[in-house]
Amino acid sequence: MTVGSEIVEGIILNTNAQYICQRLVENGFMVKEITCVDDDEELIKNEVQRLLKNYDLLVMSGGLGPTEDDKTREAVAKALSRKLILDEQIKRNIFERVSRYYSNLPSNLEKQALVIEGAQIVPNPVGTAPGQMIDVEGKKIILLPGPPQELKPMFENVISSLKIEQDFATIKMLFFAVPEAVLDQFMSDIKVKECVKIATQASFGEGVWIRLTAPLNCFQEAKNLSDKLIDKFKRNFIGYGDTSVEKALFEELKIRNLTFSVAESCTGGLISSKIVSIPGASKIFLGGVVAYDNFVKVKVLGVREETLKEFGAVSEQCVVEMAYGIKRLTGSDFAIAVSGIAGPTGATSDKPVGTVYFCVTDGRRETVEKLFYPQERNIFRNRVATHALYLLLSRLRGMI
Ligand code: ATP
Ligand code: MG
Repeated sequence: MTVGSEIVEGIILNTNAQYICQRLVENGFMVKEITCVDDDEELIKNEVQRLLKNYDLLVMSGGLGPTEDDKTREAVAKALSRKLILDEQIKRNIFERVSRYYSNLPSNLEKQALVIEGAQIVPNPVGTAPGQMIDVEGKKIILLPGPPQELKPMFENVISSLKIEQDFATIKMLFFAVPEAVLDQFMSDIKVKECVKIATQASFGEGVWIRLTAPLNCFQEAKNLSDKLIDKFKRNFIGYGDTSVEKALFEELKIRNLTFSVAESCTGGLISSKIVSIPGASKIFLGGVVAYDNFVKVKVLGVREETLKEFGAVSEQCVVEMAYGIKRLTGSDFAIAVSGIAGPTGATSDKPVGTVYFCVTDGRRETVEKLFYPQERNIFRNRVATHALYLLLSRLRGMI
């Protein structure tokens, strides 16, 4: 449960909920609900009572500060009908800490030293407000402050004390260039046992994640399903765990000691940017040219004027010449080239917005693909950039 007007009003993104839930799941908890309320004491109190009735563990973030709108402590105390007790030691620590950089301390700081009766203190190594952990008839409530840089180290300390015996396991896989619905249909047709929980999550620019979770005594079922998926969608399978197309490509190039370079038009540098986001990219990536204007395609990459006249910039012939051009310029082992129409303008009768050509070459053989993604400009760019890297990945894996 996250508390704060800035979250319910959409001013900040609720990253605490994402972080906490992710860490809980990784530690074997089953998360059933994320809830978010305004800085409203009555609302917080009622929500705490409701959640406590339904669940074994309640993690809360926000509203532990010294100001008027910080109401979590008071609301939780009321929800549990417990007293708030001033902890002199915490008070001294807070005043000592704040007086290091501010004199004339306001008395409202004292509020942060109020501890709910029976609570265990969770130290805050970064800020002033400590967290609290309260046992309520076999259930637990954990109160943490809102600022993520404070919450994270505190929650990491807490979670190790909460650790439960994990009796299930998860397989996480990433697929690309295959619709979520196709993967889903394939899995439903197999009729796996009910003990395997399937979760899919799709992102147009990154691919489709599939998570198979099963109790240990049924884990083989999950393993079998994952093997069947990978066998059926060989080319689309990027990897296990927290991977991405760019990470997988980086690994494939690194083990082979190969480099590549990029000539990109409609992606405007995004292909280069994606690969450079991987630490160590300099081992496998030499550089790129953003050949947005035809002049740059001709002058820098050596695309022939006749090619542009006869076939246009968005054509198979043009991307092939762009790829050979950048390979020649950089001396890389592989080259990728992309040219497409991101829109909303620029369409021609035979090339609608969303048309894009790709080329990957090692200097001897080129692989060309034409695709059609009629999407909003930046969604299109993101997808095209990942697809370009995916093409090179497929080449290295011997799939195309
Ligand atoms: P403080 O002493 O800083 O007031 P607090 O425990 O009272 O701490 P809040 O006042 O609720 O926390 O939030 C303080 C700041 O922390 C917010 O302005 C915001 O930047 C960040 N924050 C709060 N809740 C979240 C959340 N759920 N996700 C991400 N950031 C958050
Ligand atoms: Mg606050």
